[in-house]
Amino acid sequence: MPIKTVEENRRAFALGLLAEPKLDALLVTKLHNVRYLTGFTGSNGAVLLSRNKAAILFTDPRYTVQSQQQVNCSIRIAKGGLTKAILHEIDRAAVRRVGFEQDHLTVAQFEAFGKSLPVRAQLVPTSGLIDRLRMIKDADEIERIRASCITNSRALDAALKRLRIGMRESELSAEIDYQNRKLGAEAPAFDTIVAAGERSALPHAHPGPSKIGPGILLIDMGAFRDGYASDMTRMVHLGPATPKYKRAYGAVLEAQLAAVDAVKPGVTTSSIDRAARSTLKRYGLDREFIHSTGHGLGLEIHEAPRVGQKDKTTLEAGMTITIEPGVYVEGWGGIRIEDTVLVTAGGCEILTPTPKALREIQ
Ligand code: ZN
Ligand code: ZN
Repeated sequence: MPIKTVEENRRAFALGLLAEPKLDALLVTKLHNVRYLTGFTGSNGAVLLSRNKAAILFTDPRYTVQSQQQVNCSIRIAKGGLTKAILHEIDRAAVRRVGFEQDHLTVAQFEAFGKSLPVRAQLVPTSGLIDRLRMIKDADEIERIRASCITNSRALDAALKRLRIGMRESELSAEIDYQNRKLGAEAPAFDTIVAAGERSALPHAHPGPSKIGPGILLIDMGAFRDGYASDMTRMVHLGPATPKYKRAYGAVLEAQLAAVDAVKPGVTTSSIDRAARSTLKRYGLDREFIHSTGHGLGLEIHEAPRVGQKDKTTLEAGMTITIEPGVYVEGWGGIRIEDTVLVTAGGCEILTPTPKALREIQ
């Protein structure tokens, strides 16, 4: 028997999800989900999964060759918009209840479908069906995320070799992006954060012309490699660290380790958040922890599950999440430590190889 490709396996799982909402077919229009189900990476595409027919990818003539190279399901190259071609196939498949991704269909598309839908067919809104499937990574995805994390850590090492006092934040962030690309990443996973001194108190600081002086430096960076994200935050102290910095760094590290320790199948994401928050509370720093502990990542840098105070997702082996507690003190600075972590049968594995001991660069 031929071995199924990862995409065929994913489509088989996805078809299983159609039973409970009693769908005959699902129209997938979110591009990350299209990629997940078919391997197609173009910027215009949709997939129709139906229970009685094989999956069909729809795209336009720009992607004729690329789709043939990437995809192992049926392909329809639509010459005047995808909607008409999709409607034609819905008609041919003789399906009744067609689910669509309500957060990824424009009003105009929805109206176009509604107007020309075959009489027997009915559009049914769905939310997060494929996204929930994507929470549990398969072996192929785990290897890609692992490789992305290794690349990202190597890029940090290479970029730090060029770090000098007086360098601008924007120069260091450009260096980080350059090193990631040079090491095989296709793009940064988000706008790289390099925040020096007091500016590190802004959790989403944008690197600017500010010069990196002696003191705190926060670096939050990630890469997309073979489509998959990595995410890491590390602190560097230029010159000798102050006692205040050492104490706060120690508290954040302890909180980060406590949260990592708590990661295992069967626990809720809110309990992971609580592990970090309660550690910071013992240091009187919980009020300075102004965001959630982490987030899922994969084909997207932020995806399900969220790891926050109110999030009750139960962790399962194969999920990949970040653990990133931080404290932010206006007028002084901020400290965050972040790893990408894989939930395993026995607990978890940290995928970020960069060490976390307090680091001073003289
Ligand atoms: Zn990050
Ligand atoms: Zn993150």
